[in-house]
Amino acid sequence: MATVSPAVVRKALKAYQSVTSPEDGIKLALEEVLNAVNKGRGYHRPVCPACQVEFHPEHNGVGVLDMADYGPVDLWEADLWQCPKCGFQIVSGFGDNPISSHYKEDEFPRLVQSYRDHSIVIESR
Ligand SMILES: [Zn+2]
Repeated sequence: MATVSPAVVRKALKAYQSVTSPEDGIKLALEEVLNAVNKGRGYHRPVCPACQVEFHPEHNGVGVLDMADYGPVDLWEADLWQCPKCGFQIVSGFGDNPISSHYKEDEFPRLVQSYRDHSIVIESR
């Protein structure tokens, strides 16, 4: 059975909230999910090779900040997963594109701060 990542479901729900008619919203949300599945992004949970079990979602919607020598570049949304046996953590389930980039001078710092305030920000170097 095809399953979709939490990030895809969140995107679908955002599409749902962006319209005024419930019918249009449901149609849009279903299209988002179907597009994701049809593009071959059907989903399998990450697996811990040491313990041979699936990771569990530990925190959905964390911010991942790509860092360069000169500072932050892109902000991505993804999911934090943890092995239920050994506790090893990974970040997976990234969208196709960053949710914001450094050149968006007003939006970028505001979104980064919002993830720091309401979620987790993981810096990637
Ligand atoms: Zn493990």
